[in-house]
Amino acid sequence: NVRVRFAPSPTGPLHIGGVRTALFNYLFAKKHNGTFVLRIEDTDQTRYVANAEQYIIDALNWCNIPFDEGPGKNEKFGPYRQSERKEIYKKYAEELIANGKAYYAFDTAEMLDFHRKDHEEKGKTFIYNWHNREKLTNSLTLTKDEVAQRIANGEKYVVRFKMYEPIIHGEEAVIASTDMIRGNVSFKREILDDKILFKSDGMPTYHLANIVDDYLMEISHVIRGEEWLPSLPLHIALYEAFGWDAPEFAHLPLILKPVGKGKLSKRDGDKLGFPVFPLAYKNEETGAISRGYKEDGYFAETVVNFLALLGWNPGTEQELFSIEELSAIFDIGRVNKSGARFDPDKTKWFNQQYMMKKNNAELAELFAEILTEKGIVVEKEYTEKVVSLIKERATFVADFWDLSNFFFENPTEYDAKASKKQWKEDTPALMQELVAILDGIEDFNSQNIETIVKEWITSKEIGFGKVMQPFRLSLVGAMKGPHLFDIAEMIGKQATIDRINNAIT
Ligand code: GLU
Repeated sequence: NVRVRFAPSPTGPLHIGGVRTALFNYLFAKKHNGTFVLRIEDTDQTRYVANAEQYIIDALNWCNIPFDEGPGKNEKFGPYRQSERKEIYKKYAEELIANGKAYYAFDTAEMLDFHRKDHEEKGKTFIYNWHNREKLTNSLTLTKDEVAQRIANGEKYVVRFKMYEPIIHGEEAVIASTDMIRGNVSFKREILDDKILFKSDGMPTYHLANIVDDYLMEISHVIRGEEWLPSLPLHIALYEAFGWDAPEFAHLPLILKPVGKGKLSKRDGDKLGFPVFPLAYKNEETGAISRGYKEDGYFAETVVNFLALLGWNPGTEQELFSIEELSAIFDIGRVNKSGARFDPDKTKWFNQQYMMKKNNAELAELFAEILTEKGIVVEKEYTEKVVSLIKERATFVADFWDLSNFFFENPTEYDAKASKKQWKEDTPALMQELVAILDGIEDFNSQNIETIVKEWITSKEIGFGKVMQPFRLSLVGAMKGPHLFDIAEMIGKQATIDRINNAIT
C-alpha cells in the first residue's frame, strides 16, 4: 500500500524545486495506485508565513497534481497541519526520554555560546554529542531530583536525542540505509550530534514531527530533496529508537542554476530573468511581487513536463509527456543522482510545443481576455480561426496580438523599409487592377481567391512578388503574417478592398 507525502514548510511561496518534489511524489503514487498526502510542516513559528499554505495548495492544483489527502480533504489521518498536532509529539518525546533514548537539556544560549567559543580557541568545533554531554547541563548530568526541580520551576529546556553512546553502539557503529536513488548509504554514528527533538517553545522540531507523522500517517516512501540527506541518519536512528519500521527513502538531485555553479535559489528568478515560482507571489511584508510561470504565460502542462525531466529521464528520446503518461511510466529508479541543470530556454520550447497541441477554443478564450482589454469585440469562432492560423508561431498567448493584430484592425502604419522596397511606381496601378479582380470574386474564400488572383498575375506575365508583396503590405502593414489569402478570407472582401485602397492613397 503506497502512501507518499509532500511535506512543505509554509515559509513562503513554493519554488519549482518544491513543485518537482511534489510532482515526483504524485507520479510515484499514481504509478503504484497509491495515495498522495499533503502535510503542512508549520512547527517553526518564527518562519511561518500566513498566505504560504494557500499558495502551496493553489500551486499544486494549478499544476494538476492535486493531493488525495491533506488539509480539508479526506482527513483520514488528520489533522494534516503539524501546528494542530502539538500534543501528539510531546507524548512521543516523553516516550523516548522514559526509554533512555532522549534527555532534557537546560543549557542556556549563553552557555552553549561559551562552549562554542572555547572549542574554537582550541581549533575545534563544538558539537552537542557524547564527547561533550558531561560538561553540559542535562538530565544525564543532573540528578533526577534536580531535573524535576528545574522543570517544576518553569526553567526552559529542550529534549535532545541521544545519538551515540560507545557502550550501546560500539566503537564503529554505523547507520545504514538504502536510498532508492543512491543505493546504499551509511553514516558514522559517533560523529553525529544530539539533535533537538523538542524545543523550549513547546513545539517539536522538524525531525521529531516529521518521523512521528510519517509513522502515524503510514507513509511507505519518503521522496524529498537531496538537502535532507544529511538528516537521514537521525531519522533512521529515530525509527530505531521508537522500534518502528522506517519507510523507504529517495533523495532527489538538486536543481542547478542554468549556468555556473550551485543550486537554483528563490532569488535567481529576479536576477536571471525567468520565474522560479509556479504562480506569482506577493510578499505581504515587503509588497514585492515575484513572477510566476502561470502569469508569465506558461501552461501547466509545460511546467509539469519540464519539471519531470529535471533529474528523471524515460530512457528514450521522447521529451513530451502528459501528466497521465508520466503517471504510467514514471520510474523512481531512473532518477539521477547528480544535479539537474535548469534550462529556461528549453522551458520556452516546451511551451511552444504545448501551444501547438492546445485546442483553439481554449487558446481563443485566453486571447479573448487580451482582445477585450483592447476593446475589440468579435465572434468566438473568428478568434478561434485566427488562433489556428498563428499559434504555431507563438510561444505565449501574449504573443498573439503582435502576430494577429491585422485580423482585427486596419494597418495604422506601413513598415517603412518594406514600403520602400516593395511599393514601386507601377504598384498603385497594379493594386487598382487587383481591387477590380477581387471585387469580381463571388465566393470569397482563400482557395478561390488564390486561384483567381494567381491566374490573373500569370496572364500578365509579371512576377508574383510584384503583386503579392504590396498586397501583403496593404493588408498587414508589414511583411509578416500567415498565408495572405487566408487573411483576405478572414477579414472579408470589403475590408480587403478598403485596405488596398487605403494603401494606394
Ligand atoms: N518540511 C520539510 C521541507 O520543508 C520536509 C522534508 C521532508 O520531506 O522530510 O522540505
